[in-house]
Amino acid sequence: MKILNEDILACPNCKTKLELLKCRSCGFEGTVADGMVYLHKNDESWVKCQKEKEGWLKVYKQGGLYMENDDHFFLPDGRPHLKSFYKNVMIHLSKFFSREEVCGKTILDLGAGIGWVANLLSKRHAQVVALECNDDLLVGLGRANKLMEHDGTCFDLVVGDMEDIPLIDRAVDMVLMVDALHHFEDLDKIFKEAHRVLKADGRFYAINEAYRLASEENLSEMDCLKTFNLAEADAGIRERRPTKDEYVRSGAAMNLKVLNDSEPIEGPGLFLVGEKKAQGMPR
Ligand SMILES: [Zn+2]
Repeated sequence: MKILNEDILACPNCKTKLELLKCRSCGFEGTVADGMVYLHKNDESWVKCQKEKEGWLKVYKQGGLYMENDDHFFLPDGRPHLKSFYKNVMIHLSKFFSREEVCGKTILDLGAGIGWVANLLSKRHAQVVALECNDDLLVGLGRANKLMEHDGTCFDLVVGDMEDIPLIDRAVDMVLMVDALHHFEDLDKIFKEAHRVLKADGRFYAINEAYRLASEENLSEMDCLKTFNLAEADAGIRERRPTKDEYVRSGAAMNLKVLNDSEPIEGPGLFLVGEKKAQGMPR
């Protein structure tokens, strides 16, 4: 199996650069199966990730979508019935692609799901690492193998904890999260990790992110989630509705901005953009 970005893979325990998927410092060894590289700890944190995976499988099974779904080849909106469902994410993706030339950039797709966003980036000749804890072959990262086969694309599939990124420091030009950030309990941890793996001047994007309106701040987050009545939450998947301010505070080290505040962006989701400043670097 060819690993495109092997030189930036790191040990999940000590973040040492791996050599042939082995850590010289602590003895960790990554494994390969079904076209995916497994780089995760084997402790409580991974048990938590597995619960998350089980939650997603439950949702797909309940929805009758646990199958070889050909729609995956047409995401986000290549089939008429997908257009309304993916309308908002399309608006955000178009905005993203109008701001960023991704060709030749090394990009981490954080919380990659089945890898459809990584696939889009790869079509535009980015060097992509797709990181996801759900390795399922039908509805998880394993499905990306079929997307690559279908489109003749190539990107790295890494199974690991998204809160504990198995990449070396300053590994990527960009971190992109699509509909993913609001599934993490500890925003500070995500932003800290994203900041660590970004190169100086690297950019962070979290797009089409759910949030809690200022007018809903009197509601607890739990009550707010109940009003959405989400199947995800019922299945034990982490769902969050942070306020805009909480996102901005957590992403302060990357000077996180809410683009919706300065540009008209249709739809209910936030378009968050940050940049790792080259502060302290000799000029
Ligand atoms: Zn190690």
